[in-house]
Amino acid sequence: MVKMNVESFNLDHTKVAAPFVRLAGTKQGNHGDVVYKYDVRFKQPNKEHMEMPALHSIEHLMAENIRNHSDQVVDLSPMGCQTGFYLSVINHDDYEDILVMLEKTLQDVVVATEVPACNEVQCGWAASHSLEGAQQLAKEMLAKKDEWRQVFVE
Ligand code: ZN
Repeated sequence: MVKMNVESFNLDHTKVAAPFVRLAGTKQGNHGDVVYKYDVRFKQPNKEHMEMPALHSIEHLMAENIRNHSDQVVDLSPMGCQTGFYLSVINHDDYEDILVMLEKTLQDVVVATEVPACNEVQCGWAASHSLEGAQQLAKEMLAKKDEWRQVFVE
């Protein structure tokens, strides 16, 4: 396969075992700051995916809540294939701590009583949300916490 610019385009998606949390890349700036990008995969590629309203709501919930657990979060965004999220953090190279951060954030999702910013002022498609769906995704992800470190099929 020809090497492509996008890191995940060079990942063999038939060899991974979701759910998992994978360091997908790092980028160092001129002053030594380093951004770490993680592939937080909820669903098995080409076998399962998240439905949009649930994915949208868990995105809002995670993006808002994860920042209560770390001030080093740059971004958390969904993948277009609806199987996971990218989490970018700056100057934080502790994988185990990332897992703890994600666990706490998903626990926040499970006990949430509303989806933050799901209105037409703060969101681009406020009608497309499901708190219940988001909480189901969070519960499923938490139930397989012990598998997060294993990225590839053995
Ligand atoms: Zn939104």
